[in-house]
Amino acid sequence: MQRILIIEDERDLAELLAFNLRQAGFAATLAHDGALGLSEALTHPPDLIILDLMLPGLLGTEVCRRLRQEPATIGVPVLMLTARGEEIDRVVGFEVGADDYVVKPFSVREVVLRVKALLRRSGEPHPEGKPLQIGALAIDTERHVVTVDGAAVELTTLEYKLLLTLVERRGRVQSRDSLLQDVWGYHYAGDTRTVDTHITRLRTKLGSAGDLIHTVRGFGYKLETP
Ligand code: CA
Repeated sequence: MQRILIIEDERDLAELLAFNLRQAGFAATLAHDGALGLSEALTHPPDLIILDLMLPGLLGTEVCRRLRQEPATIGVPVLMLTARGEEIDRVVGFEVGADDYVVKPFSVREVVLRVKALLRRSGEPHPEGKPLQIGALAIDTERHVVTVDGAAVELTTLEYKLLLTLVERRGRVQSRDSLLQDVWGYHYAGDTRTVDTHITRLRTKLGSAGDLIHTVRGFGYKLETP
């Protein structure tokens, strides 16, 4: 059974989410402040984390940043609960690293649907589960480890998903819109420059393997096998 950790200080809301997630067939664990939620996530990594932005103790953005730095939770999808007007781009972008967000007030049904969609996205099987090797670049899809010439490359969850998407569709041009949809999610309200920003960072981090990613002017990107 997949387990969802809910980090939310509004207890009624947390209970309501937990109840509905259990109805949908998930196990649910609750934490009512940021620091406790973070330590629970690190000691018992769940399959997905629902994380409120405004939390006592440690803000959701800070919790999320730390989750992204820890090997135990780096690949765990994070669905952020935000209030209207909070900086969505920052939350879902590389600065904080959440995978998705919903704006309060939300329908619980919507949250359950997003949870299912995120789990589907993160659980997509990769062929054979052995490292993918493209030139100097190797991706261990089981452990989410990327190396270039044998040296580990630290990527954010979004950068990793972006790279994996390009690798799985190598040789085929991907439009900025389709990358936004597939990597960030269909409802993501940001613009396509977000894709450019992440590609630039990804290329830099990949060093010599960054050249594998080609820009297709006016359209998008393509990863080419050397
Ligand atoms: Ca709150």
